[in-house]
Amino acid sequence: MRVSTSADVKAARTDDEARVLQATPTGLLIGGRWTAAADDATFDVLDPSTGDLLAKVADASPQDGARALDAAVMTQKEFSATSPRERYDILMQAYGLLMERIDDLALLMTLEMGKPLAEARGEITYAAEFFRHFASEALQIDGGYQTAPAGGARFLVTKQPVGPCLLITPWNFPMAMGTRKIGPAIAAGCTSVIKPAHQTPLSMLALGGILQEAGVPDGVVNIVTCMRAGEVMEPMIRSGKARKLSFTGSTKVGKVLLEQCAERVLRTSMELGGNAPLIVFEDADLDEAIAGAMAAKMRNMGEACTAANRIYVQEKVADEFGRRMAEAMSGLKVGRGTEDGVDVGPLIDEAGRRKVVDLVADATSRGARVLTGGGTAAGPGFFYTPTVLMDVPAAARMTGEEIFGPVASITPFGTEDEVVAAANDTAYGLVSYVFTNDLRRALRVAEALESGMVGLNQGVVSNPAAPFGGIKESGLGREGGSNGIDEFLEVKYIGIAL
Ligand code: NAP
Repeated sequence: MRVSTSADVKAARTDDEARVLQATPTGLLIGGRWTAAADDATFDVLDPSTGDLLAKVADASPQDGARALDAAVMTQKEFSATSPRERYDILMQAYGLLMERIDDLALLMTLEMGKPLAEARGEITYAAEFFRHFASEALQIDGGYQTAPAGGARFLVTKQPVGPCLLITPWNFPMAMGTRKIGPAIAAGCTSVIKPAHQTPLSMLALGGILQEAGVPDGVVNIVTCMRAGEVMEPMIRSGKARKLSFTGSTKVGKVLLEQCAERVLRTSMELGGNAPLIVFEDADLDEAIAGAMAAKMRNMGEACTAANRIYVQEKVADEFGRRMAEAMSGLKVGRGTEDGVDVGPLIDEAGRRKVVDLVADATSRGARVLTGGGTAAGPGFFYTPTVLMDVPAAARMTGEEIFGPVASITPFGTEDEVVAAANDTAYGLVSYVFTNDLRRALRVAEALESGMVGLNQGVVSNPAAPFGGIKESGLGREGGSNGIDEFLEVKYIGIAL
């Protein structure tokens, strides 16, 4: 394994990096205009691979937030009157622009978030696909007409946009978590104010410029960047001017927001944390299981809500699985995401890395064995070495908490009943993964697992055309698929006397 040295990093602000940063807006997008925050306040966006300053971005005040929401409210009526075909055209135009500029957008994302360029390109494609998918959904908003069971009256059922929306996104997928909300909001005819995470606002700001070019009318999508998320968002939520909050982030913050939304009974969509089990039965194809576990664990350096947090392997194949997993993990190249051949970038910040260090120390103190890695990697930047732990006990903190780092936590198991009980022994329920070649077992276990999504013999389930979301404390509602647009539509029933 090779780790970047500080010499590599110092040499690294290339012409392309400078050009891409220069071209990215740094203001607030309100009512179609880029504006400074009150008092010209700004905050710093840092490169997690070096700690260097990338840009200073507008730091919105609660008043700026209120202005953005007013812009969304003012445009709602006009935007809901646009035809589905107009909204389709805007989304397809935005899809085209994202794909055309994939190289620059990927570079920008790697700079602010740290993921390797290949993964950043993958995320731009995934993000753009939400626009293409929801463009077609805009044309398929349906309704119904039916005779009442007793005859006479008729039922007319139609769908209308929910109204102005507040959209809040996390730092780990800075573009896709935004388009997964903005796409269906536009398709449904909703205006919005979007607030990206303070660590990674640049991708969303770049998207704001693209949406303007794509023909999104002024005030339909407003962007507010800020450091004081609670202070800025809470008055907007409590104002009752927005009719919906769609949030992706931690369960802890999601619970706070649900309470705030209760006051005005806002519609909510909550995409929250996960604690995914990945189960490998002894009859699985081990090549497939290793490839799946690597994908489920290492996508985004392990900083994903869908990351395999607990890997359960049946006793007979546990040692071989652990050995092969350690081999695969130790072969990964760690470094700055912009460098050729890098597989694993830095973690998002020192707090994120500290959490991984603490969780690993806790697990080893309780008897887990380190098969590879187990420490921070040389910096600058927030690097952590890909790590495999074997025999992680149920009492370890990482069994119950999101690791959010490149650490595979393996626990051997005996029987199917035992592993299903262990997998479900969590407050979360986003996704589970099962590797087996026994069809009956696959379906039995998939049905028994308490999660909104299951990957059968595959380590990645995300797909814009499929319903993404969790149960239990992993969330409410679904994004993507045809369910995704329904989250932004109200059903209206009109009773007709004949
Ligand atoms: P986070 O701390 O909950 O932050 C998410 C967003 O909420 C950020 O924009 C943040 O702004 C904002 N925020 C924080 N406190 C707020 C408040 N009091 N009021 C309004 N907004 C507030 O989560 P994160 O660390 O960015 O993201 C990681 C988490 O997201 C993990 O738990 C992960 O599992 C989850 N996630 C879930 C999904 C899914 O689809 N289920 C997808 C991706 C990530 P600031 O950045 O300014 O604090």
